[in-house]
Amino acid sequence: MARYTGASCRLCRREGTKLFLKGERCMTGKCALERRHTAPGQHGAANKMLKEYGMQLREKQKARRYYGVLEGQFKTYFEMADKQEGVSGENLLSLLERRFDNIVYRMGMASSRKEARQLVLHAHFRLNGKKANIPSMILKVGDVISLREESRKSTKIKELLEGLSAQTAPQWLEVDKDNAVAKVVALPKREDIDFPFEEQLIVELYSK
Ligand code: SF4
Repeated sequence: MARYTGASCRLCRREGTKLFLKGERCMTGKCALERRHTAPGQHGAANKMLKEYGMQLREKQKARRYYGVLEGQFKTYFEMADKQEGVSGENLLSLLERRFDNIVYRMGMASSRKEARQLVLHAHFRLNGKKANIPSMILKVGDVISLREESRKSTKIKELLEGLSAQTAPQWLEVDKDNAVAKVVALPKREDIDFPFEEQLIVELYSK
């Protein structure tokens, strides 16, 4: 399936919640969801009662869109999570949080996951000292990402580095803001994830 290239705000309106896809704009009164609460489309304003399957599907779509993951890849993450020990839904969120692009976002180098994905694709970071440019890579405890020295000359990166100090990193990520280095020091736990997912609905959807 191709990557969605339409309006990001439409996705938030579709899910009925802020997915924070447009960086700083999401925190202002310009947020489309603050102004229009209805789903997009001709029948968007209709008050639809979701049945069980609909709720499960919407929860999966919400998580997929929040992290910017394609359908097939999301299913692969679920299969990985399901094979691990522990609660499958929590394992899934832990995997999604440890995507390379999400970690760049969480360390405060980008204002959205989309921007973080671009930074990774353009190879602005190193993983454990080596070149790495795959946004979907899942990092493990002990992995270190660092900004490439050559990238510091870029005007865009200079601007992002200035914004880095204002961000608060999660507890499982140790961030050296002065050097733009981040280390995964623990696995993200459910309580570390600040979005109100109902991950059990996703598990139920894939368990049918
Ligand atoms: Fe979603 Fe951000 Fe658009 Fe608001 S501004 S609708 S949070 S993408």
